[in-house]
Amino acid sequence: MPSASVLPESPPAPASSWARDRIRMEEIEAWRSGGRDFIDPGAIARALAEGAASPPDAARVRDILARARAVETMAPGDLAALLHVTDPDLWAEMGAAAAEIKRKVYDNRIVTFAPLYIGNRCVNNCLYCGLRCDNADMQRSALTMDQLRAECEVLAGAIGHKRLIIVFGEHPSTGIDYMVECLRTIYSVKVKARVGWGQIRRVNVNAPPMRIDELKALNDAGLGTYQVFQETYHPGVYAAVHPSGFKANYAWRLYAMHRAMAAGIDDVGIGALFGLADWRFEMMGLLAHAIELERAFNIGPHTISFPRMEPAGNAPYVQESRWAVSDEDIAKIVVLIRLAVPYTGMILTARENAGMRRRLIPLGVTQTDASSRIGVGSYAEAAGMQHDDRQQFMLGDTRSLDEVVRELATMGLITSFCTAGYRCGRTGQCIMDLLRSGAEGKFCKLNAVLTYREWLDDFASPATLAAAEPVLAREMDEVRERMPKAWPSFLASYERTARGERDLYF
Ligand code: SF4
Repeated sequence: MPSASVLPESPPAPASSWARDRIRMEEIEAWRSGGRDFIDPGAIARALAEGAASPPDAARVRDILARARAVETMAPGDLAALLHVTDPDLWAEMGAAAAEIKRKVYDNRIVTFAPLYIGNRCVNNCLYCGLRCDNADMQRSALTMDQLRAECEVLAGAIGHKRLIIVFGEHPSTGIDYMVECLRTIYSVKVKARVGWGQIRRVNVNAPPMRIDELKALNDAGLGTYQVFQETYHPGVYAAVHPSGFKANYAWRLYAMHRAMAAGIDDVGIGALFGLADWRFEMMGLLAHAIELERAFNIGPHTISFPRMEPAGNAPYVQESRWAVSDEDIAKIVVLIRLAVPYTGMILTARENAGMRRRLIPLGVTQTDASSRIGVGSYAEAAGMQHDDRQQFMLGDTRSLDEVVRELATMGLITSFCTAGYRCGRTGQCIMDLLRSGAEGKFCKLNAVLTYREWLDDFASPATLAAAEPVLAREMDEVRERMPKAWPSFLASYERTARGERDLYF
């Protein structure tokens, strides 16, 4: 594969026709109530002021924790109160409750995935992003389908990933037709591995907000989760850091998930880029977004992401922001998301360094990436892990999937490569009910063990295999003891997997 610097520049479609129909006001107004957005900055500011004026005592904190343990979405006033807890002992209690809820809803599994940047062209000008259109130092490119296939052969055939999040900027040359072609190409790649084969089985998409007709096309092409982060819920900061481009429209982004649901996508991921504005405000915004999706569609966010702003080439806001989030505060953010939206998946990425990942994962995280590279075309390249003239920001952790799986095993965690849920229809309202009741954990446990066996036999190093086998044995014991009815058919699937069959699931 050629290096990204010489990837061919495909001629963009006429920008004017593409641009003219990017934003449809009627696809915002449909969900506004009396012309007002569900994010009310004044109400958030008042709730935060009340929380600051009277921090909660231990009795109130424990009362809130009891509801979180029952997997109830938190009331905004309760979150505003927890945001102002100052007693370290109470924070320790909250951290323990978050870890307990994570185990109750998701057991001891961590799902893993890889980010795949498909292109780095973008018409927007976000002041914290290396891909912004005013960054003349960025080498722009978008993968051809042959190059995309080469990336997937490494990801699925050499590393062993089953799940991707593919990332697009906003540009006419990487519009909806190109996105659909990318999904089809990725799903078509199948590579011989040590025992079985490697294949990407779930493609999640992080892309700009789209129209409903575009989202329907993406869904029909086999979309997993549709991910759009609001970046900041604070309208004033939003306007300041998004000075031009379609992204300058706060409301178009705010209702991206409403349009997704209207398009039949019931598996959505929201997030905020922490460091743009006051993290307490962002927490209130994320909770309001989850509550709004539950209210409007009975389906909350399948995942919440909480990236911290990282250094990026020619990104002035990264240095200027007065809202940089400390290590202490990002740990509080993880705890509070787990408590506030107890059913949601939580994604921690390789933006964080290895030490922070070790610290944050036990507090409630359910998904993390590994072997990550975020330069366009960089998986298939032999040289260089990071290139600041080609990628959106700099990664904090570039360890291999093998190393991360091994570390998780030493922490007592099983890495799950399961992608069964959406293929069995366990999405949307169905998955919400299963997660709230704790029943999803049963399916996930069985599928985690089967996919762990697959990956260990196909890709693990001897050291990782040695660390993982005790974890696997313990999980098998738990299945036998806790799910005696499922045990015989599960054992049969396990033995078929160990003999080399692939992609068996419940
Ligand atoms: Fe483009 Fe996204 Fe970067 Fe903004 S954050 S410049 S929309 S790639």
